[in-house]
Amino acid sequence: MDWMELDKTYLANTYSRFPVTLVRGEGSTVWDDAGKAYTDLSGGIAVNTFGFSDPVWVKAVTDQLTKVQHTSNLFYTQPDILLAKELCARTGMKKVFFSNSGAEANECAIKVARKYAQEKYGKDHCYIVTLVNSFHGRTLTTLAATGQEAFHKDFTPLTEGFLYVEANNISALEEAVNTHPCAGILMEVVQGEGGVIPLERDFVQAAARLAAEKDILLMADEVQIGNGRSGKLYGYMHYGIQPDVVSTAKGLAGGLPLGATLIGEKAKDVLTPGSHGSTFGGNPVCCAGALSILERLDDALLTGVEKRSDLVRKGLEGAPGVKSITGLGLMLGIETEKPCAEVIAACREKGVLVISAKTKVRLLPALNIPEAQLSAAVQVIREACAE
Ligand SMILES: *Cc1c(COP(=O)(O)O)cnc(C)c1O
Repeated sequence: MDWMELDKTYLANTYSRFPVTLVRGEGSTVWDDAGKAYTDLSGGIAVNTFGFSDPVWVKAVTDQLTKVQHTSNLFYTQPDILLAKELCARTGMKKVFFSNSGAEANECAIKVARKYAQEKYGKDHCYIVTLVNSFHGRTLTTLAATGQEAFHKDFTPLTEGFLYVEANNISALEEAVNTHPCAGILMEVVQGEGGVIPLERDFVQAAARLAAEKDILLMADEVQIGNGRSGKLYGYMHYGIQPDVVSTAKGLAGGLPLGATLIGEKAKDVLTPGSHGSTFGGNPVCCAGALSILERLDDALLTGVEKRSDLVRKGLEGAPGVKSITGLGLMLGIETEKPCAEVIAACREKGVLVISAKTKVRLLPALNIPEAQLSAAVQVIREACAE
């Protein structure tokens, strides 16, 4: 079978894929249809928290699959309750709404912010401040939230009421919230699609202070950096703040579609019956998978993420052809002298899968990738950058 040709024929042409068809994986190793093995440092774009076919996760998922796969949200189920309880215990948040993706988790966050502000201060309090170069999803509202013109093209009119400010520009942020009736501020503490760029601590703290002063919601988009990837459970935990809303997805369920919007004390009672919903949201199989992942994201595991992060940084910092390394934990961006596409292709030839973020090479390996396997892969990246 010519899988690439069939894909071109039958699938919407939305992705420029690498010329590899992956058929089987185990941990951080994955094989293509010709039997070639790769070390995977792409992690399904930060989704495969513990790599491929992790046995503990597979057992949690299949156990649930053989009990109840879906019920509708008209009935109580157990996995979503256990997962929400654990998420709240680990974050100090008070309520959780489950959906199926990052975009939906952000849609919910935006709805919560608007409902909170409009009930308290009136209909005109609708504005959401987001950052230039952000990424929040592909629905029309989360596209509007995304502060990159390129994504908006051909899809206007988008949802109204979004303001964009430059990352790390505190006075621009103050100006935006002081001149508009706002409902919230939405930001990724590490811009992922924007090029793996961590925000400055002062800026994030200023956003938290402003949100508190104005009684609007500070929303952390933790879709990519969340769920242990940063070396803490959530990325905001590096910044000494407590957001009012946290949205997450990607790595949450280790490879199954699950989004979550965590709502803190301030807005915990905003959502009421009928105000939001999702047919698949809180799916028992996805939640059972997520619960098994979350239980394993303990201090030892998170320390291991930091250790692996150092291993990558030490292996690449100052290496020939490497300009800089940015990011947190195991979400790293490498600025290379050669175009990143060349480095990515050279790595793939040598059996290492990496992806890009803007002009950088991006690494999002499984959080438990064996250190020896990671070291060997870093050596391959070094060679690819130097050649
Ligand atoms: C991937 C991503 C999204 C969108 O998630 P989907 O599951 O693709 O809808 C939103 N925000 C951030 C920060 C992301 O990285």
